[in-house]
Parts: sequence; structure tokens; C-alpha cells
Amino acid sequence: LYHPVKTVQQFAGIVRDITKEIAGIEEQQKLQHQKDNFLSIASHELKTPVTSIKAYAQLLERMFKKEGDTQKADMLARLTGQVNRLTILLEDLLDVSKISNDKLSFKRDYHSFNDIVTDNIRDADCQESGHHLEMHLSFMGNIYCDRMRISQVISNLISNAVKYSPERDNILITTAQRGTDVVFSVQDFGIGISKENIGRVFDQFYRVSTAESYSYQGMGLGLFISAEIIRQEGGRIWAESEENAGSTFCFSLPLVNNIR
Ligand code: ADP
Repeated sequence: LYHPVKTVQQFAGIVRDITKEIAGIEEQQKLQHQKDNFLSIASHELKTPVTSIKAYAQLLERMFKKEGDTQKADMLARLTGQVNRLTILLEDLLDVSKISNDKLSFKRDYHSFNDIVTDNIRDADCQESGHHLEMHLSFMGNIYCDRMRISQVISNLISNAVKYSPERDNILITTAQRGTDVVFSVQDFGIGISKENIGRVFDQFYRVSTAESYSYQGMGLGLFISAEIIRQEGGRIWAESEENAGSTFCFSLPLVNNIR
């Protein structure tokens, strides 16, 4: 059989040069990779000198205290406080690079949820900030989780509640069993978050940018890391808020096959 070769007389459509698009995606992936590498190396390399600065500052603080030079000892205590802040920022950057490389590791075991929560409340140091923490802890069971990681989430949510309620109002912390989950919540009566921003607060490096919010320090990483931890522990995290009235941040963890 003979099929004559037909020539195209007319063509209507869009011709896309996909080689350019592929090159663009590859370029983006390369840049993302470079960014992840930079984050990882920078945070690792900065940690060592920061740790030794902290050790020397603590040593000097003890020396001055012994000598009765309280003025110098106070200055050194403030220096240690700032170094601690720097350490937390570096840890956050390191966690972000681990998340990007899918290397956030978990050491899971059975832990009393109540112990994890109360340890954090004790460490929250609200006496200094002037806030009053009110607790309604009704869940007394164990959960199977990485204690340090869940502690990190709780500490982050409590410190945000403190940071974003400058009027030093009460902060309400609750735990409760809901169906097959345990739910933790922190409610503050602070600056709140507007409707258009609430959906983005769990994004990497996202900070609400109003004139007022510039006065709060932070990198916009705590909630992003918290959300990833909760996701990897099989739970959910969410927030409800009203501007100028306050926010409630909650997470749930599954109890299925979990209670011992
Ligand atoms: P950071 O506090 O370091 O900026 P987070 O990831 O913890 O980063 O929070 C992201 C943003 O969400 C904050 O910059 C802030 O704008 C908003 N936010 C978080 N917690 C609260 C809160 N309790 N009240 C009001 N705004 C909050």
C-alpha cells in the first residue's frame, strides 16, 4: 500500500521550548542544593567557636563572682545569655538544613507526656518575662515519641506565646485526650495574627511584617521546624488567631498503639 507523505499546511498552537524549562528547573535545583549546603556548613562551623565563647564567658563569670565583682559577673551573665540565643539560632538553621536533606532524625521511646510539658513550663522562666502560666493538664498517659523533639515544639510554642504577648497577660496551656489523639494547646492574649497571615506562619522564614512585628526578634523558623517535627511524629499542628486578641497554637499526636 502506498501512503503519500502529507505536508503540514497549517498549524495552530503553541510551541514550547522545553529544553529551556528543564534547564531552568535544573538551575533551581542546583541553587537549592547550594543553599542547603551553605546552611549546613555555616551552622556547623559556627557552632564550635560559639560553644567555646560560651564556656569562657561562664568561666569568667564564675571567677568574677568568686572575687565579689558583681558588676563584671553581671556583664558576663548577659554575654552568656546572648551566646545562648545565638546557639538556638544556629540549631534552628541546622535543623532547617536537615529537613531540606530529609535527615531530621528521631530517637523514639515511651515518655510521660505530662513530664515533657511540665519540664518545659518550668524552663519557660516566665517570672522574668512577667507572664503567668495557667495549666489545665488532663492527659496523664505515655506517648511514643522523640522526647527532645516534642520538647522543642512545646518550648517554641510557649516562647512565641510569651514573645508575642508584650502586655504580659496570662498564657493558658492545656493537654487533653481527644478520641485517639492527645492534643496540646497554648493560648495567649497577645498581638494575634491577621486572617491573611495565619495560613503562612508555618512557612520557612515567614514572619508577619507589620510595623509592630519588627520589634520582635526571630528568623521565622521555629514554626516551620515544629510543623515538620509534628508531621514526622504522625500528628497535626494548627493555629487559630484574632488580631489584637490573641492566638492559640495546637498540635495533636496519635495514641493508636501508643499507650503503655
Ligand atoms: P519567629 O518567632 O522566630 O519569627 P516562628 O516560626 O516561631 O518564627 O513564627 C513565625 C511568625 O508567626 C512570627 O514571626 C510571628 O509573626 C507569627 N507568630 C508566631 N507565634 C505567634 C503568636 N503566639 N502570636 C502572634 N504571632 C505569632
